Amino acid sequence: KPNALGSLVAHYQKGEDQIQLREHSLVSHLPKALEAGQLSVLFQPKINLHNMQLAQAEALIRWQHPEYGEVSPAEFIPLVEGAGIIDIVSMWVFEEVLQQQAAWLAAGFELAVAINFSAKDISNTKFIDQVLAKLNAAPVANRLVVIEITESALMDDFESVIQGIEKLRVHGVNIAIDDFGTGHSSLAYLKHLPVDEIKIDKAFVDGLLDDAHAAEIMQTSIRLASNLGFKVTVEGVEEQPIADALISMGADMLQGDLYGIPQSGEQIQQFILSGQSG
Ligand code: C2E
Ligand code: CA
Ligand code: CA
Ligand code: CA
Repeated sequence: KPNALGSLVAHYQKGEDQIQLREHSLVSHLPKALEAGQLSVLFQPKINLHNMQLAQAEALIRWQHPEYGEVSPAEFIPLVEGAGIIDIVSMWVFEEVLQQQAAWLAAGFELAVAINFSAKDISNTKFIDQVLAKLNAAPVANRLVVIEITESALMDDFESVIQGIEKLRVHGVNIAIDDFGTGHSSLAYLKHLPVDEIKIDKAFVDGLLDDAHAAEIMQTSIRLASNLGFKVTVEGVEEQPIADALISMGADMLQGDLYGIPQSGEQIQQFILSGQSG
């Protein structure tokens, strides 16, 4: 009969094993899950504060797993990155986005879409060439594509990520730095970054109204990024008083549940077309 410590260790190991089983199962089934139609792409509005119109939509992946139910990208994307097969997911999302943008064009409007790429994608020359070739073959203008790269991904592999960014930008593709402020990078390098947009992380939105210090950080970040010529987006905006504060601080775009949760391409289309007719 095992002693108390023994059974505690056994219990703990059972939990660990189950987590590892789930992680392994998610990664190993992902390619088949893509083929089986378990994954989809939703689009979250990014609102232009200068005209209050829809400026872009961010593509966000979803996985409806037959066994685990909805699995968050916050869980499976890092696993897929770790397993070295993120390019499969990124290319799939990119193709889905181009198809959706083509469908929107056929319905009579164009809309820029922001796509999340990982550092490994951006520093992969073959991947970037494939992206540009697919974009070229699609009826979608290059300026309608925004690539979001997290600040920490950028710092991980600075030289080769910058090379990929520059290649995309030469072809008119826009680049945004995602999760800005969470990557422990110095502000000094910011002015040399060949990017178009800075997305300030939701972490800096929470507490904005009750914490003078948080408000000061937000104001300083927006002003600095604007002065350096970047468009400034703030994400995770859930309430109107927060939006009002960010508008007065000079943000260019806002994204968050206040303006629209992630939704299907068809819902975006209905929103745009109903807005135009009424
Ligand atoms: P992210 O790129 O920072 O995306 C924003 C996340 O915040 C999304 O979570 C979005 O649904 C959520 N969000 C937006 N507005 C609000 C709000 O007002 N309140 C709250 N509480 N949350 C809000 P989601 O879709 O679960 O994605 C999580 C992360 O997974 C993303 O963070 C991104 O890093 C990653 N991800 C999602 N889709 C993809 C993808 O296609 N490729 C890659 N590489 N990563 C992806
Ligand atoms: Ca993003
Ligand atoms: Ca094209
Ligand atoms: Ca973000």
